[in-house]
Amino acid sequence: MAILEVKGIEKKFDNLEVLKGIDFSLEKGEVLAMIGVSGSGKTTLLRCLNFLEQPTAGVIQVGGKTIFDASNPNLLSEKEIRKNRQHFGMVFQSFNLFPQYTALRNVTLAKELQAKEQSDFKSNKKQVMEQLQKEGRELLESVGLGDKLDYYPHQLSGGQQQRVAIARALMLQPDILCFDEPTSALDPELTGEVLRVIRGLADRNTTMVIVTHEMKFAREVADQVLFMDKGVIVEHGTPEEIFEHPKEERTRQFLERYL
Ligand code: ADP
Repeated sequence: MAILEVKGIEKKFDNLEVLKGIDFSLEKGEVLAMIGVSGSGKTTLLRCLNFLEQPTAGVIQVGGKTIFDASNPNLLSEKEIRKNRQHFGMVFQSFNLFPQYTALRNVTLAKELQAKEQSDFKSNKKQVMEQLQKEGRELLESVGLGDKLDYYPHQLSGGQQQRVAIARALMLQPDILCFDEPTSALDPELTGEVLRVIRGLADRNTTMVIVTHEMKFAREVADQVLFMDKGVIVEHGTPEEIFEHPKEERTRQFLERYL
């Protein structure tokens, strides 16, 4: 069964139709790379998945359960949205770390806030906090930052900050990890270290949706590639189909510019 099913997603900002009926599905452990020129609607689609935007039409299902249905707004209580958002981890272009917290605290904070909402938190506080620290440390070690736990964002390079952001997203154990151009704010020499971490996650069968302009990387890690233009999916297939044998003229033109 598909872990993620996106059906007929549309999004309008006033009269501007940004998404015009997006359909795709993703199996557990698969990586979907989304490519396309700037302005084609990729970020908006990721934001719809994460409830940062509300689609004007369509259905989103996770693990067979409908978590969003534009025709049934009752699903959209604040509590429901917060719960549903947890299916998706987000890693943004610009890291978005909290500058006032260390790398470790950035990673553990969201889970700490969740733990505090549990009624038995006070009686278990010490163990819960120790467990969170342990998980956070292990995640930072897994992205190669075991020696930077107590560093603040401004003491880290862009690539290191982005790796903290990845660890932070993983901490909440999302079903689907989403990346919005994770390397486009980085100097070229820092891109490799972030792509290596994402490649490692793919090797460990992490389900991911990645918006990227790194075509070589998309070709290597993706199971499915989705080429978007002007709010529609122009072409959707395996990396081989899209990169080696594109059927559509628009895909060919795009690839000529980016490959
Ligand atoms: P991409 O990620 O492919 O560059 P985006 O999803 O960022 O594309 O943008 C698609 C289109 O939607 C653009 O024309 C952009 O200006 C428009 N857009 C995005 N967000 C908003 C918004 N909040 N209000 C109005 N227009 C928006």
